Amino acid sequence: MLKVNYTALILLVVLVVASPVAASSDSDTYPKILEMPWDHSPITVLIDDNNVPPHYSPTYRVQVEAALEYWEEGGNGKLNFTPVFEIVETADADITIKWVENLEEITGAPEGVAGFCRPCILDEKYLRAEIVLEVGNFEGFAWRQYGDSNMYEISKHEIGHALGLAHSSDKRDIMYPTYEQRDNLNPLLLESTRPFLIIGATAALIVVGFLFISWRLHKRKREQIEQEIFGEGEK
Ligand SMILES: [Zn+2]
Repeated sequence: MLKVNYTALILLVVLVVASPVAASSDSDTYPKILEMPWDHSPITVLIDDNNVPPHYSPTYRVQVEAALEYWEEGGNGKLNFTPVFEIVETADADITIKWVENLEEITGAPEGVAGFCRPCILDEKYLRAEIVLEVGNFEGFAWRQYGDSNMYEISKHEIGHALGLAHSSDKRDIMYPTYEQRDNLNPLLLESTRPFLIIGATAALIVVGFLFISWRLHKRKREQIEQEIFGEGEK
């Protein structure tokens, strides 16, 4: 019973949350998490190269900075605003970027995930976004460190999410999940989602109620049939 409830809830929330994204009105209805995710400029960015894993390369920070420039210079042309970034050293930055040795080991992320961006959304705006990048992955039995060009591509993709873009179905687009599952977007939806959650929970309750009633009806009907077949005194 509980399982049905959760499944229905998640399904409904996904449906409700997904619909405004699909209906985005910009150029070519490009898939977006939010059209204008940040309500201020510049967007502050903390690139955490102090707490780094053993296989971190100092050249990775350079790749992230280049990826930020890529978006400042127009990126893939799908933003309806021009982002301006300010690199800061404070933990309250809008976007925080950090590295881990291997995402699968450290955060329990799905296999093959190379990085993720987790925006924290409140009232149709990002409060902040957290980007976590891994420095290498297992290929067969061997662990291989990512090269700079790979880090640059992953950074561009994740920063794209931090600017409100979702996944593109165009294979040539930087927001195409090139590495298939090597990227994971997991927004934390806060207060703005609460009405949807209530709608979802109500709908789930209705579904569960309906299932319960149909089960009761079925049971009653079966008892009726049994009585007809086995006679009255049986039960
Ligand atoms: Zn992605």
